[in-house]
Amino acid sequence: MNGDSCETLILLGNENLAPIVYNDNGIAKGVAVDIAKAIGERIGYEVKVVTANWEQAQKIVLNGDTDGLLHINPSHERNELYDFSSPLLKSDFSIFVQTDIVILKSINDLKNKRVGVEAGSYPNILLQGYEAIDIEIIHDWETSFRALSDGDLDAIIVDRWIGEYELANSGISGIRIVEPPIESQYSRIAVRKGDIETLALINSGLNEIIDDGTVDKIMEQWQGKRVIYLTEDYLQIFYLRTASLFLFLAVLIAIYFVRKYRKLSKKLEDSVKERTEELHHANEMLKAANFKLEQISLLDGLTSIKNRRAFDIAYKKAWKICLREGMPLALIMIDIDNFKLFNDTYGHLSGDQTLIRIAEAIRGVIKRPGDLAARYGGEEFVVMLMNTTAEGAAVVAEEIRKRIEDLGIENEETENVITVSLGIASVVPDNELAPNELIDAADRALYKAKEDGRNKVTVWEN
Ligand code: GH3
Ligand code: MG
Ligand code: MG
Repeated sequence: MNGDSCETLILLGNENLAPIVYNDNGIAKGVAVDIAKAIGERIGYEVKVVTANWEQAQKIVLNGDTDGLLHINPSHERNELYDFSSPLLKSDFSIFVQTDIVILKSINDLKNKRVGVEAGSYPNILLQGYEAIDIEIIHDWETSFRALSDGDLDAIIVDRWIGEYELANSGISGIRIVEPPIESQYSRIAVRKGDIETLALINSGLNEIIDDGTVDKIMEQWQGKRVIYLTEDYLQIFYLRTASLFLFLAVLIAIYFVRKYRKLSKKLEDSVKERTEELHHANEMLKAANFKLEQISLLDGLTSIKNRRAFDIAYKKAWKICLREGMPLALIMIDIDNFKLFNDTYGHLSGDQTLIRIAEAIRGVIKRPGDLAARYGGEEFVVMLMNTTAEGAAVVAEEIRKRIEDLGIENEETENVITVSLGIASVVPDNELAPNELIDAADRALYKAKEDGRNKVTVWEN
């Protein structure tokens, strides 16, 4: 068994310290076991780790039956019995209590309490200095943590990593860890006091693998497998924080979208307003253009007085009004005398100028709002007078005739000036009469004026 004879080192480890060193179906496992094996590789020895009851293991080494102890924390008493290697793993010895026990803060608060520790462990040694504490030896972590949860134990003291690992694996709840740890220590490998040779061998390997990062790598592998035990308090705080964070994010997102929506809707509103204004403006323009067009469509292109269409519309309206009111409606039909001759002599352009001057003259005579002068066709004009008898119309017609004669537009062929003949008819419309009959009558009066020698006003007598 001795390392010198067969180049094998045998280290004893606690069978019950998962995940640091423990017995897994007869095979020693754990982070400390991996470190021990790495030391062996470095120093060219086969390092065997054997797990055992921790109290027994310590006795075996003291008897010199094996080379050393893996993962043991120095204490005053132990320093008398063993020599220790360089630091191996950090142990945070912590008090585990029921979640409800809020006031417990340190080892001094454990007076008269039932406190569970493992036999021969560092916490066990620590508690020996406190007489008033009722120590209970732990044989199985799960059973003891369950007893703690049920209130059959008041506290357990163990390396935090080991306790957390057990709680996470067994799923026992209602337990919290008192902060801070009561003591933090580095575990080591121990040899029997005086076995300087073995210790030097172990230290040479250990120091090397610490320096080159091998220990860190092994730790990383096991830290990955480390299960964090969360107490209900922690979990509640964790859930609360997570929920708050989500809520906060949700509110942020909501604010973002509301702002975006508002901007968009404002933009849309502005754009609709703008389009509406544009549309309104376009509509006004269209209305104005339509009005202008309507006006133009009612005017004669050459003379700018009302055209035949305007007369037809106005005449229909006037007929209805006079029919309803029982008022007389008068028409004066006007035709230029010998105008063909004028055109033949002076040309059509001069004829057009003459038409313009005659239209102006006629318009000059028409003053009342309900009255209307229009170009009826070619060189014929019509004047409509509302609420006017034949006698009244005759006065207006005579004035027109005179004004045109007074223009003094020469017509060489006739050895005279341009004159017009005018026919007048007036009637109080009734349902027996058709509107055309009044026009016919005025036409016939005009024909009579021509017959009677032109430059005359003739009234239709029925
Ligand atoms: P009267 O009426 O005295 O019987 O003789 P008239 O020569 O005027 O005969 P009528 O009224 O039948 O002749 C119409 C003439 O008017 C024919 C045409 O030369 C002329 N005329 C008609 N429209 C226009 C026009 O827009 N411009 C010009 N320059 N002449 C026109
Ligand atoms: Mg004519
Ligand atoms: Mg004529």
